[in-house]
Amino acid sequence: MTNEIPYKIYLNESEMPKQWYNLRADMVNKPAPLLNPGTHKPMTAEELAPVFCEELVKQELDDTTPYFDIPQEILDFYKMFRPSPLVRAYCLEKKLDTPAKIYYKFEGNNTSGSHKLNSAIAQAYYAKKQGLKGVTTETGAGQWGTALSMACSYFDLDCKVYMVKVSYEQKPFRREVMRTYGATVTPSPSTTTEIGKKILAEHPGTTGSLGCAISEAVEVATTTEGYRYVLGSVLNQVLLHQSVIGLETKAALDKYGITPDIIIGCAGGGSNLGGLIAPFMGEKIKNGANYRIIAVEPASCPSFTRGKYAYDFCDTGMVCPLAKMYTLGSGFIPAPNHAGGLRYHGMSSTLSQLYDDGLMEAVSVPQTEVFEAAEQFARVEGILPAPESSHAIKVAIDEALKCKETGEEKTIVFGLTGTGYFDLVAYEKFHDGKMDDYIPTDEELAASIAKLPVVE
Ligand SMILES: *Cc1c(COP(=O)(O)O)cnc(C)c1O
Repeated sequence: MTNEIPYKIYLNESEMPKQWYNLRADMVNKPAPLLNPGTHKPMTAEELAPVFCEELVKQELDDTTPYFDIPQEILDFYKMFRPSPLVRAYCLEKKLDTPAKIYYKFEGNNTSGSHKLNSAIAQAYYAKKQGLKGVTTETGAGQWGTALSMACSYFDLDCKVYMVKVSYEQKPFRREVMRTYGATVTPSPSTTTEIGKKILAEHPGTTGSLGCAISEAVEVATTTEGYRYVLGSVLNQVLLHQSVIGLETKAALDKYGITPDIIIGCAGGGSNLGGLIAPFMGEKIKNGANYRIIAVEPASCPSFTRGKYAYDFCDTGMVCPLAKMYTLGSGFIPAPNHAGGLRYHGMSSTLSQLYDDGLMEAVSVPQTEVFEAAEQFARVEGILPAPESSHAIKVAIDEALKCKETGEEKTIVFGLTGTGYFDLVAYEKFHDGKMDDYIPTDEELAASIAKLPVVE
């Protein structure tokens, strides 16, 4: 065979996407709008303007424009770490002895170590363009905060990060990377905000949660002149920026005439998966293309597989707009799973609608099986994967093993969202046999879901 697929498929600079793709424009059933938490009416651009940058509000509310030009400054920044390689996992295929053809899109080749930089740089750019002084945000495990710190330092913007207290204390290295890029990092809940003081008074000694850190970051953004709030996942605008992952993947596959059968990604708030699948889902909706698309979530935080499709708060403080999504309830605090990036209680409203329409599937997987897959992958493919990404690896391996049984030569593509160098405490627990697989009971989930807001 002369047309053997290379180990890594790269795009030339000229083949890189110049526009982001807005999947919502092609969706028949549009995602439900964000609602004002007071009036329960759809949020208007005017209402969102004090929270988010102007241009990002436009992107957030636009479900008709299919393509947005990527500004030149962002394209220039992307060149530092994009295109990311689409790797043919020859070594993993061999190890599994499967007839399946496995590819992964590797987004971990930048200092922040994940795909989050794709949106961070876009959000920082629009903040700068609007003449703002800075932005605020929350971070859990720290990947988003790191990506945003890098993006803000590039555009010389101030960056205030509220980091979930338990991570602030347990992940000092991420914190120091953020500070290296000039960000101010505050453990949340903190006494720097009204909501933080309130939460601390009600729950002294709490180690914090993402929902709580969001409330603090939003409060600071809306009460400080020249600041806006930015978010690293869940929102439509973030999925739009992350479409660069899927567009590159599709261009690379098209170059070699490859059509995937199965596309797999891990899902926390849904941004990498939404980005990876965007052009493929677009084809599925428009021309009935026959892709199987699978979201993988942790069994400890199963929004898709055990959540309810309903309006819910995006944060614990209940100050943010309501979003219709598969949710476990904004008060749900997942067990301390090591995939910090997958611990959000809800899911992107775009992906929620697609899932509800039966256009994609979801599975949940227990933590130790995820680390077994991570280790198997690292030993043959060389990359040390992030625990979040390893959820996708686990299901890709499962699907490849099914092919081994049936003899089918399916083409599997999965998103490898990042590297796991800052997750070695989790790897240590796994190696020492001290990792647990806590799965919430039906009663626990029902109790949290019972507290969803009532929206007529
Ligand atoms: C944040 C993160 C995720 C999950 O976020 P999504 O918005 O669901 O993509 C997955 N992998 C890594 C490495 C992350 O940092």
